[in-house]
Amino acid sequence: MKTSVLGYPRIGSKRELKRASEKYWKLSISDAELLQTGRDIRKQNWLLQQEAGVDHIPSNDFSFYDQVLDMSLTLGCVPSRYQQVKEESSRLDLYFAMARGIQRDGYDITAMEMTKWFDTNYHYIVPEFVKHQTFDLDATKVVEEYKEALELGVQTRPVLIAPVTFLLLGKEKESGFSRLDLLDQLLPVYFDLIEQLVDLGVTQIQFDEPCLALNLDDAARDAVTQTYTQISHRFPRLEVTLTSYFECYGDNLETVLELPIHALHLDLVRCSAQLGDVLASPKLDEQLILSLGVVDGRNVWKNEFQSSLSTIAQAVQQLGSERVWIATSCSLLHSPCDLDLESNATQLPDAVKGWLAFAKQKVDEVVTLRALALGVKAEDVLQALVANKKANEERKNSGFIHEPKVKRRVERLAPSHSQRVSSFLSRQELQRAKLRLPLYPTTTIGSFPQTPEVRSWRAKFKLGDLTQGQYDQLIQKETEATIRFQEEVGLDVLVHGEFERNDMVEYFGEKLEGFVFTQFGWVQSYGTRCVKPPIIFGDVYRRRPMTVKWSSYAQSLTDRPVKGMLTGPVTILQWSFVRNDQPRATTCQQIALAIRDEVCDLEAAGIGVIQIDEPAIREGLPLRREDWKRYLDWAVECFRISASGVQDDTQIHTHMCYSEFNDIIDSIADMDADVITIETSRSEMELLDAFVEFKYPNEIGPGVYDIHSPRVPSQEEIERLLHRASELLPVGNLWVNPDCGLKTRQWPETKQALQHLVNAARKLREEVAVEA
Ligand code: GLN
Ligand code: ZN
Repeated sequence: MKTSVLGYPRIGSKRELKRASEKYWKLSISDAELLQTGRDIRKQNWLLQQEAGVDHIPSNDFSFYDQVLDMSLTLGCVPSRYQQVKEESSRLDLYFAMARGIQRDGYDITAMEMTKWFDTNYHYIVPEFVKHQTFDLDATKVVEEYKEALELGVQTRPVLIAPVTFLLLGKEKESGFSRLDLLDQLLPVYFDLIEQLVDLGVTQIQFDEPCLALNLDDAARDAVTQTYTQISHRFPRLEVTLTSYFECYGDNLETVLELPIHALHLDLVRCSAQLGDVLASPKLDEQLILSLGVVDGRNVWKNEFQSSLSTIAQAVQQLGSERVWIATSCSLLHSPCDLDLESNATQLPDAVKGWLAFAKQKVDEVVTLRALALGVKAEDVLQALVANKKANEERKNSGFIHEPKVKRRVERLAPSHSQRVSSFLSRQELQRAKLRLPLYPTTTIGSFPQTPEVRSWRAKFKLGDLTQGQYDQLIQKETEATIRFQEEVGLDVLVHGEFERNDMVEYFGEKLEGFVFTQFGWVQSYGTRCVKPPIIFGDVYRRRPMTVKWSSYAQSLTDRPVKGMLTGPVTILQWSFVRNDQPRATTCQQIALAIRDEVCDLEAAGIGVIQIDEPAIREGLPLRREDWKRYLDWAVECFRISASGVQDDTQIHTHMCYSEFNDIIDSIADMDADVITIETSRSEMELLDAFVEFKYPNEIGPGVYDIHSPRVPSQEEIERLLHRASELLPVGNLWVNPDCGLKTRQWPETKQALQHLVNAARKLREEVAVEA
């Protein structure tokens, strides 16, 4: 019985890699220094796993930016626009140019596209393929990292993104071919790479083929079969571990079980049922080893040894312990690094800390589970079992977690809680009478520039250098200035500016019960960007109003309507580590009720327009289409619970961005927000197509100002976009607004752009008046 770790975080437990890379980009450290930081992190990671006693320690899981980009470079899949950079610069600079674009030394080349890695919050760089694509091996990274570990006395199992997944994750940049057709040219490059590794003494390779978690067609499945058949033919002694994660193999299972491989990895956290399916399958080969992914690589909870042990026993009973490995469910890339660093007991109480395990602790769990499964009687092993049982029992019964009132409220949810009093058309009439907005009403998405000054106030307040009173006063001043600006520029529905907020989820997490926070719980999101998700450990509820003070203050300054600003339940759930002792849907319902309370309090305080942001609703979609409906049903219901406690004449807005809406448009309509503001300006209103075809019934504000760029759109440009939108949608339903919040922008460009936006709306109103 062997132990495996599928991958380890590479950002460094204190984000050393981020710091070094960003310095390197600013040219303030040399490439030698950056490369050394990489070596130090790898060394630490390898030795930590070796000391813990892991058998299969990964190499080539390190990356300066992204493992898929590494693979593009390894396979010589470099888009032609980087040709000159390739000839003139180092491998490292070419690599960063592909990741981030390059705009210096006479170059002006765009970056490669980035997109989400399956259903995680990690983003990878999308490989680009052309019709006459060629591949060309550059084995440096894979080979050097293997040798580097060997020199430290660590025999590793190199990890490779496998051929079919590499192709499927990429994009055709020309028409007239399918990227899977490239497999025949790609495989020989992989063979050369494998050969070099085998020559160095590599006996095992981990092939990551997570595309097997998706709905595949026959062509893709055949490509998988062909790949491993050829590899086994050429390298009969190589021990291939095939991994997929984040989902069951589903209807790819038969294909997978017929492959000539040494070991098959199962993510038993995401899909515990598949162990039974595999064990029962007549296709299960007598030699095949099963790698049981029982330690969750994507969440922060301590493993439940007893339940893992019974899973392991089930496999051992049929296969024998030789054919069972114990592993992390996926790479630990998605876990924070080290729980031992957490020392702030007010943010993270010891009781809750005792229920958690980060990457380093998960490595120990894998090793301890093996010892327990083999019946090792050593004192420390037995103690570990006792301690694990105790921690999990404490968690189950903890008074911190369970709030009977909250549970009862969720149980008593009735259909009426997710239903506004009247239908949209009646509400629209009442809202029009009450708000008296002009045609093409203008608004913004919520945040205004978070200047270094605003951020410094928060930092000082946290350090105790500002009192609550002083801090509030500064924020009030900024809010007032922003209200005055919005009045002057002529916006119709104002916002308070969100100056009091650090982050749209963290802000609410800090105010709600059931959340804790870490100091160093960073997880890589993309490149050097890391996020520190809150941890939802217990029943969620609201002790007191969270935003009413700021919204009412802003409303007290003006006669125009000020829009209340809340983050929606699905987005709060999606951007947190979520408890695993109850269904996500239940946790989401609890959050929805807390937000509902806030919505009602805002209404009672005289706020007549309330926005509930749900930018992450699409991200929660399951990987397999057959599972979408179940998710969308509860996600939409949770939004509706949060929005439906108000009177008909209170106008509920929602906002979404970074999304394709086409395939979930009916669910978006089901959310029944009175107004939706969405991102469209970058795609010249293309994203509107879904709303047009579907005949989206409610009001809608397609973004007409791309806030992701410092560029100021001209009035004419905005008019053009509005004309376009007016051809597609009923004019009476249209709003005029930016794409997203303005917090990353600077004031000067914000002011100009919003003036153009208001002027454009006025122009369109005049045109309508003339026509009438
Ligand atoms: N109200 C938020 C803001 O303006 C919305 C942010 C988002 O959509 N990501 O910042
Ligand atoms: Zn947005």
